[in-house]
Amino acid sequence: MNTNLWIVVPCYNEEMILEKTAVCLKEKMEKLNRLDILSGNGRIVFVDDGSSDGTWQKIRELAGSDKMFLGIRLSHNRGQQNALLAGMIYAKDRCDCVATIDADMQDDIDVLPAFLEKYAEGCQIVYGVRKNRNEDTVLKRATAQLFYRIMKLMGAEVFYNHADYRLMSRKALEALAEYSEVNLFLRGMIPQIGMKSAVVYYDRKARTAGKTKYSVRKMISLAINGLTSFSERPLHLISVTGIICSLLSLLGMAYALISYFFGYTVPGWTAIVCSIWLLGGIQLMCLGIVGEYIGRIFSEVKRRPRYYIEETTEMG
Ligand code: UDP
Ligand code: MG
Repeated sequence: MNTNLWIVVPCYNEEMILEKTAVCLKEKMEKLNRLDILSGNGRIVFVDDGSSDGTWQKIRELAGSDKMFLGIRLSHNRGQQNALLAGMIYAKDRCDCVATIDADMQDDIDVLPAFLEKYAEGCQIVYGVRKNRNEDTVLKRATAQLFYRIMKLMGAEVFYNHADYRLMSRKALEALAEYSEVNLFLRGMIPQIGMKSAVVYYDRKARTAGKTKYSVRKMISLAINGLTSFSERPLHLISVTGIICSLLSLLGMAYALISYFFGYTVPGWTAIVCSIWLLGGIQLMCLGIVGEYIGRIFSEVKRRPRYYIEETTEMG
């Protein structure tokens, strides 16, 4: 097939892992080159997402030692989604397709030929979907399941158990580049491109070294981005809650009036306090949800650049 494949690897404080990852990916590329599946001028692009350790140093060393490696450094930690996009957009005009993979080698690179096979069959997007979550911590598994359940309930389309291990053709990348949103949730955006796609299943392994770079805060922020960027159902829920509350309050009023006319009007402290709490709570919740959307509208209308590429290594 002789495809020119570029691999994009987001890296945030991954100095411990980088070399091993580079060796694994290079071996794989070379093997596919030898089999004439790849063209031989593919690249592995490490995107340093504003790391505070020696990640960039390592990337520069790698790029200096072998022209297969390239580095991009973002000026600040913008999160995995932005780092991925930066790498994909950078690679877009220089290759036939891009595969994205985490730096920790949790995703099985042995399925890359399967990705390329699907690409050769005309698929513009190939999603890597993990077979199970056995390697995850209990917390991660539970929160992930909750997330998918909520997303489904809210009518947002995402592939179950697909993270950011995927292959995209240049055509699909060009379409992705048209999306100008700031709050990125690639797993939601990419299926919306709607081009011919396929799914490849793989086993996800444990991290080769180091700790997860996805803090609970980052995970929650990604989940909220996913939900609010791809579902308007929370807004509908507010209206529905409002209607139900109004109907219930009408019933309450009827009850109060009947009690009044029949002379049972005992000062209802409990009822008053309960209703204040209940309504106060509901109102706050609704305000919170509306606030989430307004916050996102705010950041979208500003149209700020999503990242700056501060430095790149020379292309060999
Ligand atoms: N990552 C990143 N920026 C961040 C957090 C993570 O570029 O702010 C990268 C990280 O280096 C890794 C990938 O995103 O290559 C996935 O992160 P990690 O493996 O820590 O997440 P987990 O697998 O635990 O969900
Ligand atoms: Mg990982």
